[in-house]
Amino acid sequence: MDLQQRIRLMSRLAGFERDGELNFEDCIFHASTPRGKVPILKLMQTTMCDKNCVYCAFRRDRDETIRMALKPEEVARGFMELYRAGKVKGLFLSSGIFGNPDFTMEKMIDTAKILREKYGFKGYVHLKLMPGASLQSVEEAVKVADRVSINLETSKEERLRRIAKGKSILKDMLQKIEYVDRFIRERKGKSQITQMMVGVDEEKDEEIIKVVEFLNRRFKLSRVYFSAFFPVKGTPLESKNPENPWREHRLYQVDFLVREYGFGMDDFKKILRDGNLPLEKDPKTAWAEANPHLFPIEINTADYETLIRVPGIGKETAKEILRRRQEKRISSPSDLRGIRNLTKILKFTLLNGKSFYQRSLIA
Ligand code: SF4
Repeated sequence: MDLQQRIRLMSRLAGFERDGELNFEDCIFHASTPRGKVPILKLMQTTMCDKNCVYCAFRRDRDETIRMALKPEEVARGFMELYRAGKVKGLFLSSGIFGNPDFTMEKMIDTAKILREKYGFKGYVHLKLMPGASLQSVEEAVKVADRVSINLETSKEERLRRIAKGKSILKDMLQKIEYVDRFIRERKGKSQITQMMVGVDEEKDEEIIKVVEFLNRRFKLSRVYFSAFFPVKGTPLESKNPENPWREHRLYQVDFLVREYGFGMDDFKKILRDGNLPLEKDPKTAWAEANPHLFPIEINTADYETLIRVPGIGKETAKEILRRRQEKRISSPSDLRGIRNLTKILKFTLLNGKSFYQRSLIA
C-alpha cells in the first residue's frame, strides 16, 4: 500500500470520513486562535491501539477500524509539502497507543525532530502525550513541540476506569500535567492543554467545573477543551444518544469565566440544576439573575472587577467604560454609544442612579 492510500485510510479513520479521493489535505482543519483561524494538519501517527476505550473509533476491539501507521519521515515530508504550498501553518500529531507508550511517543517525537532538524521548520507543532508514557518521553516531546496535551477525558477516577480501562487520572495524567507545567513555566512559547469528554458516563457539569477550577488554579493550562460525546458505530456505546452540543458550549463559557474573570465553583452552585448548567442561558447571565441582591450596579462607581461580572461587559468593554468615566459622568445610554451588548448591560446597571432597562428590549 503506497503512502497516498495509507493517508486516505487514516484520514477516514481520524474522523474525516468522506467519500472519494483523500490525501493530506483532507486532514487540514482550521483552529481558532486569538489571531483568527489557522490551518493545521491534524494526523495520527498510527491508528493501531492496544487500549479499548469504549467511546473510541480506534479501540482495540473495533473490527471496522483499518490499522495503519505512518513513518515519521512520511508525516514530516507530507506536512512540509503543504506548508511550503502555504496550505497549513502547523501540525497537530496524535496517535493510538501501539505496544509500549514510549515506543509510540518515540515515533511522534522523531516526526517533530525531522521537521525541526532536517527541514528547519520553526512553526507550530502540537504533540499529544500518550497515557502511560515515561516522564523522559514527556520531556523530549515538550522540547520539540510548542504545545503538548494529555486528555483527562472525564472528571473522576472511577468514571475513567469504566470508559478507558488502564488509564488513570491521578497516577498518570495529572502527574504528567504537573510535570509539563513545571517544565514549560521556565520556557517561553510552550503551552499545554487538556480535553474532557462530555456526556460519556453521565458525569455532571458540577464535577467537570470542579476539575476545571482545580486545573486553572493549579496549572498554567492554555485551555481545557470539551468534546460532546458522539456515538461511534462498532463501539460499546454505539446506541447511546449523542450529547447536546450546547452543553459543550456552556462549559467553554464556564472555563473562560474561571480563567479570565475570577469565577469559581461557588459562583455556579446557585445556577446548577440537578448538577448541570442551564442550556438556554449563558452562565454569566444565569449567575447574575440568580444573585439579584448584587444588581443593578452603578456604572459610574463600580470597580473593574465588578464591571467584568456584569453580563454583556467583557474586559475591553470594562476598560472602555472606565475611560469614558474619566471624561464625564455616564448618565444616559447615549454616553455608552458604540458599546456592544448595551441592551443587556442596561438590565444590570444604573446610569447615574437611574435604570434605563426596558424589559421589552431584552430577549
Ligand atoms: S488510547 Fe486513545 S486511541 Fe486508544 S482507544 Fe483509547 S482513546 Fe482511542
